[in-house]
Amino acid sequence: MTIARLSDLADAAACPRLVVKVGSSLLVGKQGLRRQWIEALVAEIAAARGRGQQVIVVSSGAIALGAAKLGLDKGGRGSLADAQAAAAVGQIALSGLWADLLGLHGLTAAQLLLTLEDLEDRRRYLNATATLTRLLDAGAVPVINENDSVATQEIRFGDNDRLAARVAQAARADAVLLLSDVDGLFDRNPAEAGAKLLSEVRGVTAEVHAMATGGSSSGMGSGGMTSKLQAAEIAELAGIALAIASGLHDAPIARACGEGIGTLFLPRRKAGARKAWLGGRLRLKGALVVDAGAARALGRGSSLLAAGITAVEGEFQRGDAVAVRDAEGHVLAHGLSEYDAAECQRLKGTQSAEHAALLGYAPRSAVVHRDQMVLL
Ligand code: GLU
Repeated sequence: MTIARLSDLADAAACPRLVVKVGSSLLVGKQGLRRQWIEALVAEIAAARGRGQQVIVVSSGAIALGAAKLGLDKGGRGSLADAQAAAAVGQIALSGLWADLLGLHGLTAAQLLLTLEDLEDRRRYLNATATLTRLLDAGAVPVINENDSVATQEIRFGDNDRLAARVAQAARADAVLLLSDVDGLFDRNPAEAGAKLLSEVRGVTAEVHAMATGGSSSGMGSGGMTSKLQAAEIAELAGIALAIASGLHDAPIARACGEGIGTLFLPRRKAGARKAWLGGRLRLKGALVVDAGAARALGRGSSLLAAGITAVEGEFQRGDAVAVRDAEGHVLAHGLSEYDAAECQRLKGTQSAEHAALLGYAPRSAVVHRDQMVLL
């Protein structure tokens, strides 16, 4: 059964495994943790469990909460060191609260703090999959955040929207619900007169991106609509539905699923697990720029051959993930390169018959084989 409407997110048959992401501004107010609201949400999570759904929580709020406790300005986001310190202080209180409140419903919380690399590296990603699967099978409720205290700027997700989509992929979840301080995606800036809430989006196209206005409206989290659309792209490629709904209500899951207020991004296609991981990669080691002929061939399902490559960017090794871009800079695909960057430089624009001489060894059949590539 696939997910076709918001109400399916509360249906154990259509959505046996749900990821609920909770934004910072919902968890932390001026007086610290918004305990009552979190209690109500936990009751909804317990109800979902009662319906037979498995639930993973992706909880923001560590930085905002820690900053309040430490008295740091700019919500703890003034510098990397502030954010790291704030997260360390906030996380311990946050996870304690989740554990306590879930415990009141007889549910066991399990904490996972992940870095970007934990989900970018294939081995570590599979490791996270195994842990999450075991926890869910054992009946626990994983509560996940980015490990902000050790993550540096270069290796951060930076927002929990994309983290939630990647976690959903790793956990093979059916849907992600992003609870935020907005009702969903509007066709233009929601502050403008006549702005309309889109209830359903089929494919995150350039037109959909143009509707988003960046920045978090609360100024507390780091997401905003841009990172939510990036999360939707990761999810749709993995065959996972993603919904954005407002958490500014006491029973946000019931409101989104029962009253249908929110935006549902329908899953686009079901890429194989490995291709979904590859397509959702956020940090790539380099890029191969291709000409129009190669771009067309990729669209027809061909492998990427050296003849169509016009430029090679970055330092990458054989087997590293690279982006494939056209001359205008559009990313066409992600794939694993069969050669390192220096070899790609040597081979670009050349015919296969010349490769053995150029390399000094038997060449591979393509620079990126179609089995190791996912079109975006
Ligand atoms: N990981 C951050 C925190 O716990 C939140 C990131 C976000 O705003 O999405 O504070």
